[in-house]
Amino acid sequence: MNVISALSYLVASVCFIVGLKMLSSPKTARRGNGFASLGMLIAIVVTLTDQKILDFTFVLGGLLVGSAIGMWFALRIKMTAMPQLVGVLNGFGGGASALVAFAEYMRISGDADLTVWTGDARLDVLITLVLSVLIGTLTIVGSMIASAKLHGIMRGAPILYPLQKQINAVILLGAIVLGVFFVLDPSLWYALIIIAGLAAILGVTSVIPIGGADMPVVISLMNSYSGLAGAMTGFVLSNNVLIISGTLVGASGLILTNIMCKAMNRSLANVLFAGVGVDYDPSSQPAEQRSVIRYTPQDAATILESAQSVVIVPGYGLAVAQAQHALQELVNILTQRGMQVRYAIHPVAGRMPGHMNVLLAEANAPYDILLEMDQINDDFQNTDVALVIGANDVVNPSARHKKDSPLYGMPILNVDYARTVMVCKRSLNPGFAGEDNELFYNDKTMMVFGDAKDTVTKIVQLMKN
Ligand code: NAP
Repeated sequence: MNVISALSYLVASVCFIVGLKMLSSPKTARRGNGFASLGMLIAIVVTLTDQKILDFTFVLGGLLVGSAIGMWFALRIKMTAMPQLVGVLNGFGGGASALVAFAEYMRISGDADLTVWTGDARLDVLITLVLSVLIGTLTIVGSMIASAKLHGIMRGAPILYPLQKQINAVILLGAIVLGVFFVLDPSLWYALIIIAGLAAILGVTSVIPIGGADMPVVISLMNSYSGLAGAMTGFVLSNNVLIISGTLVGASGLILTNIMCKAMNRSLANVLFAGVGVDYDPSSQPAEQRSVIRYTPQDAATILESAQSVVIVPGYGLAVAQAQHALQELVNILTQRGMQVRYAIHPVAGRMPGHMNVLLAEANAPYDILLEMDQINDDFQNTDVALVIGANDVVNPSARHKKDSPLYGMPILNVDYARTVMVCKRSLNPGFAGEDNELFYNDKTMMVFGDAKDTVTKIVQLMKN
């Protein structure tokens, strides 16, 4: 590799690191994404030209086709389908790593037909080759299952079977033993194929027992695996930029997985093995028949008009209803009338990390009024109205005291400490955790039933008149 290529790899790696750092704040996230993409562009162009794999016309053609497909996805995909798109893209990353590792094995074997092994590979190359095939294949299959569950192509409910953990352990052990045989005798090319087969089975058996709504955590974990697979392939190819980018993806995916688990107050083992997350069927489970206070959008507008301070708590229903623009219009009206209006963002509101921030950024909500749970939670007791839009689990007080609740121990937004609570949702149905919400039956809670976008739009119109 020449000096220019090595320097370009260094620049690409710096772009990845700066990009990741910038992704940690909504203010800089867009630019961060641009930086990281630029780093990837530099890395790909330099690799393809330096290794003389392709000439420039192919690189340019690939760029155009790839950008067109990327743009098509970016423009068409619904915000609520973003986690499964990320899942599919992670899967491709893992699959590509496994394929590249296998192609490298064929190249170094000395015989493209793999009938005789005349190659000479170092021990570390052989070990990372096995790991790349194993982790890469597990990632692509596991990610596809996770995405299919999230997209509703497969049933989201956990598919549980006896001795699940033990069977997975035996499959993994089998793959590791075969890997050791392969490293000792690299002519055993079929061992690699069987390892890939076992990894694919493991991808299925380890993801199907996990509930559909825990899939964002699985996708984050698979993201980490895809990074690991990439880093392993980087070692196989002795390619520094692949090792660096793979390690960054692996580490950041793991950190994100940890943040999501902590915010739900669950361990990763509980997410992976407890089979949490039933499919909720409203027709089969009638909501509890307790009385609630029903308000119309007209009542809600009247209450809001007399408030001094309002804290808005968005949740998954905001994303489903695509109510963010109407909601921000309401915020603008309230702010123009001199009220203090802020958004309270729970770390696991919605179905993916940062879900609410992304939605609200799309509606041009000012960043300085988007407050995280720790920043706002003590302020609810001084708040006139807590306006809950399509959120449920993240404001369910049973998380504080009901020991048998799946939400027990999860930190929640203290909306019930506000003077008045208004909840906009379509029914009394529970949220993702399937737990009835005692907030709805609180004396100071007003339920405004209906689609979030319709309700907020009506309130906006009433306040404008
Ligand atoms: P949630 O508990 O899932 O509740 C969302 C509520 O939105 C539902 O109760 C639903 O009630 C309502 N809704 C749906 N469509 C609506 C519409 N068109 N208009 C109005 N309301 C609508 O959501 P959350 O409070 O945001 O909590 C997120 C949950 O997901 C947590 O349990 C969290 O642990 C879990 N989770 C999050 C992540 C993440 O990364 N963010 C990852 C994995 C799991 P109706 O049907 O009555 O309208």
